[in-house]
Amino acid sequence: MPTNLKNTRNDFLGVDLGIAKIATTSDGKFYSGTKVKNIRRRYFRLRQRLQSKGTKSAKRKLKQRRQKKSRFVADVNHCISKRLVEVAKGTQRAIVLEDLKGIRERARKGTRKTVCKTMRQVLSSWSFYQLRQFIEYKARAAGILVIYVDPRNTSRTCSKCGNVDKKNRRDQKHFVCNACGHALNADINAALNIARRGVDVIQPNAVA
Ligand SMILES: [Zn+2]
Repeated sequence: MPTNLKNTRNDFLGVDLGIAKIATTSDGKFYSGTKVKNIRRRYFRLRQRLQSKGTKSAKRKLKQRRQKKSRFVADVNHCISKRLVEVAKGTQRAIVLEDLKGIRERARKGTRKTVCKTMRQVLSSWSFYQLRQFIEYKARAAGILVIYVDPRNTSRTCSKCGNVDKKNRRDQKHFVCNACGHALNADINAALNIARRGVDVIQPNAVA
């Protein structure tokens, strides 16, 4: 653990992973995935068409497309992870990600309802697993700490007053706190909560 961490919110770069924007940081920056989303959609449509054909050449074409898509997603993941680690290194902050292992266990135990839709999408998508791996090894190489925090209610908690209510998250994009009225982009709000939880992991009694 770097000794220069002062255990305040400013020492942590919270990163929220999602579908529309691949990564959103507690700095309020988006790392977009529109291109990836389109490519994925195109690939799924093509796969359906080729699978229904079932011929040898269709299978070959499918394999080529699969490899091309993997390369593209890996390229995007490399770019995003590189950028995130650069930002963390440039500002001497630890990177904070949601600990999805916990969520996976809870999902297995049958409390699926607590897992929000976005999180299920994140879990079911291999490219996010790869992105997390890339962030981890690039951070390690740069001497940047990666911290995992409890993902529960990160999208329902107000990053300003701490009020937890699922109605706070109005839709995919908008967060409006029904206690203090604080309004901001839902992904940025989640990233701010993730960053704050990094404080508790480093020093359980610290006040953010
Ligand atoms: Zn609030």
